[in-house]
Amino acid sequence: MYSEWAKDEIRIDRLEIFAHHGVFPEEARDGQIFYVNATFYTDVHKACEEDNLAYSIDYGDACFFITEWMQNNTCRLLEAAAEKLARALLLKYDLICELDLEILKPHAPIKLPFGCVSVKVHRGWHRSYIGVGSNMGDRERYIKGAVEALEAHPLIKVKRVSELIVTKPYGGVEQEDFLNGVLELETLLNPEELLETLQKIESAAGRKREIHWGPRTLDLDILFFDALCYRSETLVIPHPDLQNRRFVLEPLAAIAPYMCHPLMGKTVAGLLKEL
Ligand code: ATP
Ligand code: CA
Ligand code: CA
Repeated sequence: MYSEWAKDEIRIDRLEIFAHHGVFPEEARDGQIFYVNATFYTDVHKACEEDNLAYSIDYGDACFFITEWMQNNTCRLLEAAAEKLARALLLKYDLICELDLEILKPHAPIKLPFGCVSVKVHRGWHRSYIGVGSNMGDRERYIKGAVEALEAHPLIKVKRVSELIVTKPYGGVEQEDFLNGVLELETLLNPEELLETLQKIESAAGRKREIHWGPRTLDLDILFFDALCYRSETLVIPHPDLQNRRFVLEPLAAIAPYMCHPLMGKTVAGLLKEL
């Protein structure tokens, strides 16, 4: 579950587990002791009000889950074990919004005196808004297909889908009208992984990049990713032109009017009004 404010902590300290993770064959064969520290970030308010475990994360159950996961899997790297176990916990317990997960290996095969080695990861759910568009062939089918592909992804939950609107093409190229909409996702992917996933779905829908702003079967743009401001060679977040596009702001304002543009400091509803 994604949350903007959940900062309460439920912690598990030094859970001891005998398991078989390691790069050396004898580690996978003989096994050794590991310790796991976990901090679950959640909101315990409702559980407190009702004094009821049904509204919180059962740490006893989580200890058994972690133990079984550590024993039933064999990873070469502690990094891999930490990442995969973090993901498994986030998928199993919906009330965990974010977590810190540390795996310690006190008897790692290092021929020097040392206390412990460990790997710690911080992972959590992110909320992202995606602009969808199509102006070739069965436009609605392409957009529905994209929603289905996203729903089928194990690390993505589609939370909301706006109404689709018919819009005139943007950017001066003579072409068919568009069908546009916006999706709200929760995801465990990072922004670059999300872009890669969207591009795979576009390719599977036969998307070709021939003319800039030209006709397309399917276009999936990341509009926002939490309140992140980010720029790499392949990705800019927030989408740099969204404030100038009615076909983005209208469906976005329908599902997320109070979403605040992290660079402009204005809500989506405000940006639409100003357009
Ligand atoms: P526009 O981004 O202006 O709407 P477009 O959608 O037609 O134009 P594409 O050909 O789909 O452009 O994408 C060109 C490149 O834009 C992609 O290869 C991708 O790496 C990059 N890109 C940068 N920021 C984003 C973003 N926020 N969402 C999607 N793609 C992005
Ligand atoms: Ca686009
Ligand atoms: Ca695009």
